[in-house]
Amino acid sequence: MEYSSEFPTTPKDVSLQELRERLAEFAEVRGWEQYHSPRNLLLALVGEVGELSEIFQWKGEVARGLPNWSSDDKEHLGEELSDVLLYLVQLADVCGLDLGQAALAKIVKNGKKYPVTNQKEN
Ligand SMILES: [Mg+2]
Repeated sequence: MEYSSEFPTTPKDVSLQELRERLAEFAEVRGWEQYHSPRNLLLALVGEVGELSEIFQWKGEVARGLPNWSSDDKEHLGEELSDVLLYLVQLADVCGLDLGQAALAKIVKNGKKYPVTNQKEN
């Protein structure tokens, strides 16, 4: 698959399939597939979750939307969230799982486990 290495200039929906394909090509052209075993990708994912956690560490509770964060802090957060997502997508790929379908199925399963009880007050 051909793709531009430039950052997209216009917002668009990004599919898990597109991420999977771009990551697979990224690894293939660098000869990194040999390192991308499920275990290695899982450990890399956990490491990135640690980096994500460090951003919030010692900050106390933060408001939704992060109104008091600098643009640099938000950019860093976006990078670490992306690292987590990208390793998760790669892990599912090398395990032969369709992550999007699995996630949708899990939402349905969670809905049955936690049915709506109409206790929400407006
Ligand atoms: Mg990182």
